[in-house]
Amino acid sequence: MYMDYHHHTNNSIDSKAVMQDVCEQAISKGIKEICFTEHFSVNPSAPTYGHMDFAKYQQDITDSQHSYGNQLTIKMGIELCEPHLMMDVYQTELSSIPFDFIMGSVHNIGNQKLRLHLRANEDTFYDDYFAEMYKLVSDADIDVLAHIDLMKRYAVQEGHNVYTFEKHRDQIAAILEKAIQRGIGIEINTSGLRSSLSEALPTPQIVSLYNDLGGKILTLGSDSHKAETVGAGIKEAAQIARQCGFTHICQFDKREPRAIPLPLS
Ligand SMILES: [Zn+2]
Ligand SMILES: [Zn+2]
Repeated sequence: MYMDYHHHTNNSIDSKAVMQDVCEQAISKGIKEICFTEHFSVNPSAPTYGHMDFAKYQQDITDSQHSYGNQLTIKMGIELCEPHLMMDVYQTELSSIPFDFIMGSVHNIGNQKLRLHLRANEDTFYDDYFAEMYKLVSDADIDVLAHIDLMKRYAVQEGHNVYTFEKHRDQIAAILEKAIQRGIGIEINTSGLRSSLSEALPTPQIVSLYNDLGGKILTLGSDSHKAETVGAGIKEAAQIARQCGFTHICQFDKREPRAIPLPLS
């Protein structure tokens, strides 16, 4: 089950990692399956806009599968910025590419990066963020919601507190109920464990609530942007999943989830 379903390479604007190096590190760490999830946006005002070369990305995947396929299962995914906006453009750009896995993220609110939105809206930024996430989960054509409570990372960096789960419980429950209704999963993203935040995204209370509400589609991802950190925190994420009541996590093949059991210890 040891797999990493959220990883970036130099096909993303904010990573210099070479895919083959990531694969070699993954194999050396005993990872069995990796899904690359490069950033992509069709919005010219998003920082990620204009970087992706899909021909290169697909060639990297094919080359890596050729070199390492007997030791590592390699999947092609994508992480979309605000895929509930400009949906027709996303559809045009993506429909011919055979992705295994599509994640949706709120990285910007109203064409503002989260950090800038936070600075301009100090009293409402958590509400605004979860409201945007609700719009995303209601409309977007995706498989999994990436890092559901990402705003807390910027909040902490800017001297604010992590949000209180109980205060936002209704908003979060609405997001999770909509996800379940639409067959959309969530991930446990371990990048927060490697930052001053020192906790996964989302908080275990959200993972537990998703399970309580009947959610079944859960992936585990490092959100690593470097070969050295591939798979970082995945064992901790598996532990969180178990503690939150999950017995299975999911892998994806051509956007179809398949449940595989978590190990018992
Ligand atoms: Zn992201
Ligand atoms: Zn990411």
